[in-house]
Amino acid sequence: MASDTAAANHLPAFIWDEALIRRYDLSGPRYTSYPTAVEFSHDFSIEDMVKAAGRSKAAGGPISLYTHLPFCAHLCYYCACNKVITKKRDKAMPYVERVLREAALQSKLFGADRPVQQLHWGGGTPTFLPKDVMQHLMAGYGELFNLQAGEDRDYSVEIDPREVDEDTLPTLWQLGFNRISLGVQDVNPKVQKAVNRVQPREMTEAVLSEARRIGFRSINLDLIYGLPYQTPDSFSETLESVIELSPDRLSVFSYAHLPDRFYPQTRIQADTLPSPQQKLTILHNTINRLLEAGYEYIGMDHFAKPDDSLAVAQREGRLHRNFQGYTTHSDCDLVSLGVSAIGQTDDAYFQNNHDLPSWEASVDAGQLAIVRGVGLTRDDRIRRWVIGQLICQFRLDRSQFTQAWGEDFDRYFADELNRLKPMVQDELVGDDGDRLQVQPAGRLLIRAICQIFDLYRKEGASQRFSRII
Ligand code: SF4
Repeated sequence: MASDTAAANHLPAFIWDEALIRRYDLSGPRYTSYPTAVEFSHDFSIEDMVKAAGRSKAAGGPISLYTHLPFCAHLCYYCACNKVITKKRDKAMPYVERVLREAALQSKLFGADRPVQQLHWGGGTPTFLPKDVMQHLMAGYGELFNLQAGEDRDYSVEIDPREVDEDTLPTLWQLGFNRISLGVQDVNPKVQKAVNRVQPREMTEAVLSEARRIGFRSINLDLIYGLPYQTPDSFSETLESVIELSPDRLSVFSYAHLPDRFYPQTRIQADTLPSPQQKLTILHNTINRLLEAGYEYIGMDHFAKPDDSLAVAQREGRLHRNFQGYTTHSDCDLVSLGVSAIGQTDDAYFQNNHDLPSWEASVDAGQLAIVRGVGLTRDDRIRRWVIGQLICQFRLDRSQFTQAWGEDFDRYFADELNRLKPMVQDELVGDDGDRLQVQPAGRLLIRAICQIFDLYRKEGASQRFSRII
C-alpha cells in the first residue's frame, strides 16, 4: 500500500501493508531483555546474583545505574507501572535512605570505581521527590559510585510536567542530569479527563522550553494511542500540537486495556475506547505524519530527529536495547535499585521484590531484595545478540555473527531460517545469503521476526504479552 520515506534516511522506507499486519500481529514480547522477564525464576537466588555481580566486577567496564522511584501524587487510569499513589511527600526520604543502603551493598558487589556512563531515574514519578531528597540521593550516589561529568554521559530522568516547580529542572541539571523524558500521552482535554491526567498543553510547553533553555538534550515526549475517546482526527490534532513543540525524540505507545491485570484500568470504560481498526488508522497516520515531519522511525514505538544520538547510532549500527528502551551505551552492566528494579550483567538478569513493604523489610535487614532472575546460557547470549541486531539495527550480518560467536549462522539457526521463510516470501525480511535485512513492511512487525529466534516462544505460544501493534 502506501509508501513513505524519511528524507535522508538511508534505512529502508517504511511500508504499511494492512494484510501483513493482520497476519503477523500476534502477541509478542518487547525484547527489552532476552530471555524476557516471564522466564525469570524464583530459583535464581541472592547467591546467584552475588556471583554474577562478582563476574561483572572482575570484567570491569562502565555501568548503568537505574533507580525506581515509585511515588505518584495522582493515579492515571491507564497505568500499568509499579507505583504507590500518595500525597505524603514525607514518604520520599525514608525510601531514598533505603535505596542508598541498597546502593551501598551493590556498590561493593559491582565495584565502586567503575564509571557510571548511564544513569536513569524512572517510576512512578521521580519528580515527586522534594528537592532536598533528590539532592540527598545523588550526593549518596556520588559517595558510592564513580559518577561522570563528561559530555558523553547519559543521565536521564522521567518528568511529569504536573510535578515540576521552578526549582525542579535547575536542580536536576545541577545534579548532573542532561536528558529528560516528559509524559504527555494526549493533549485533548476530554481524553485527559477520562484517564485522570489533566495536563494543559501550555504546562508541557513551559517545561520543555525551560529544559531547552537550561541545556537538556535529547528531550523525549511520550504519547499513548488507544485511550478513551481518541479518534484518528483527535489524535492527529494532538500530533500536530506535539510536532510544533519539536521534541528530539517521541515515543508513541499502544494502550493495552487489561483491567484484570492492572486494577487502575477498571476505571476506564471499554466502550469509550477506539476500535482496533481506529487504532490501526491512528498508528498509520502517526507514522506517516512523523516521517513527513522529518523524524526517523527507530522501531518499537520510537521516533527521533535524524541528528539525535539514537538515530545516529542506528545508522552507524551501534544501537542497543535494555530495560529502559533503546540506548547508545552497549557495554554497561545494569545496577538497579529500588522496589521491582531489574539488574543485568553479561550472563544474568535479576529483579527486586515488587512489593514495597517486602523490599523495605529486606533492606532493613541489611540484605539484597532480589527475589527472582535468570542465568544466561551461551545459547541465550547468542540469541540475545541476534535479536538485538534485528530489533536495533534492522539487519544481521552472517560474517559478524561468526566473528562474535565462532559459529556458522546457517547451521546454528537451520530450524529458525526454515520458519523465517514465509516472512522472507512476504517480504518482511530479505536474505541475500550474507545478511538478513528487515524490509520496509517488516519494520512494524519486528517483534514477530525476533520471535522466530526466541527459543522460549515457538510460534503462537504465550498470550502473556500484549499484541505487537
Ligand atoms: S502513569 Fe506514571 S504518573 Fe501516572 S500513575 Fe502511572 S506511574 Fe504514576
